[in-house]
Amino acid sequence: MKPGRAPPRACPVCGGPVAGRGAPAFPFCSSRCRLVDLGAWLDEAMRIPGTEAAAPPADGTGGVDVPGAGSEG
Ligand SMILES: [Zn+2]
Repeated sequence: MKPGRAPPRACPVCGGPVAGRGAPAFPFCSSRCRLVDLGAWLDEAMRIPGTEAAAPPADGTGGVDVPGAGSEG
């Protein structure tokens, strides 16, 4: 065990090794991963709530048709 040596951080995007706090893309391993994280953040920010969860069409075609309903007896 060598004291005074910080453990290697893992990139939150790809899990790769991060150079260190002095790295230009800290806390990411590279500027590429930094952009990926930024893109994901923007994607969530741009998403408007209520656009999903589309209800099924209210047609009259509902119902389960059972072919050859066995009726013995
Ligand atoms: Zn990375």
